[in-house]
Amino acid sequence: MPLFDYQVQAPAAGCPHCRAGFEVLLAAADAPGPAGCPRCGAPVARVMACPRIGASQTGFHRRAAAAGFKTLKRVAGNKGEYEAV
Ligand SMILES: [Zn+2]
Repeated sequence: MPLFDYQVQAPAAGCPHCRAGFEVLLAAADAPGPAGCPRCGAPVARVMACPRIGASQTGFHRRAAAAGFKTLKRVAGNKGEYEAV
């Protein structure tokens, strides 16, 4: 189930919970989310969340370097060429 971020529409009307933003687990991406903050009831709207793409969750590059391996990165604009990072 997708997780979405919600934040109060008018910061002056919200409480600390909805001003900071909160996450809501929805059954589907097009499912209706909450209309108001669960704590204060102020109108909230879905905000774009930045997915953590590219951030290593496993420490792969650090562990590879510790084991003596080099990690490679594709050279921008060149297909098939890589350089050591
Ligand atoms: Zn609130």
